[in-house]
Amino acid sequence: MGRTCFIALGANLGDAVATVNAAIIVLRQLPGARFVAASSLYRTAPVGLRHQPDFINAVVAVDAVSPAPTLLDDLFDIEARFGRSRSVKDAPRTLDLDLLLFGDEASDDPRLTLPHPRLHERAFVLAPLAEIAPELVIPGRGTVHELLARCADQRIEKLVPQTV
Ligand code: ADP
Ligand code: MG
Repeated sequence: MGRTCFIALGANLGDAVATVNAAIIVLRQLPGARFVAASSLYRTAPVGLRHQPDFINAVVAVDAVSPAPTLLDDLFDIEARFGRSRSVKDAPRTLDLDLLLFGDEASDDPRLTLPHPRLHERAFVLAPLAEIAPELVIPGRGTVHELLARCADQRIEKLVPQTV
């Protein structure tokens, strides 16, 4: 039995919907983790740097057997595979994968901060997270659905899956 972990996905360059869907498939096959659930996709306004395309976001839950730093390295490898290059903070990106929570582990290491330091104030994380874990408590902050209610000013739209 591993630790329940939540991973946030974000993309806003190229075909962001296709990227996020493809990344979810990769996360389903992550070595050292068992897939639990994936949220719908959401279209959200960029935070920080304005004047860039909207983001596509989602959240995936896995049961991890590997330790947190190994999981984060796996996430960085997946970002690189999708062509991620790091430039300035909040810049557009083909794929961003953030580790939101790793069981109840707490860390203030800047390379791996847990829980993710901004998760409790971002609708683009909380809305997809609320879909798969509404009663989850973010330590010291509250439940996911309570926190989401405080983000009502942030523009976010749930995407309806395409049926062909
Ligand atoms: P963003 O803050 O937009 O996700 P980056 O993806 O470029 O920006 O990440 C910046 C740094 O954040 C990385 O070097 C990474 O080591 C660090 N980091 C700290 N905590 C976490 C976490 N919980 N998940 C992902 N990256 C993290
Ligand atoms: Mg990141």
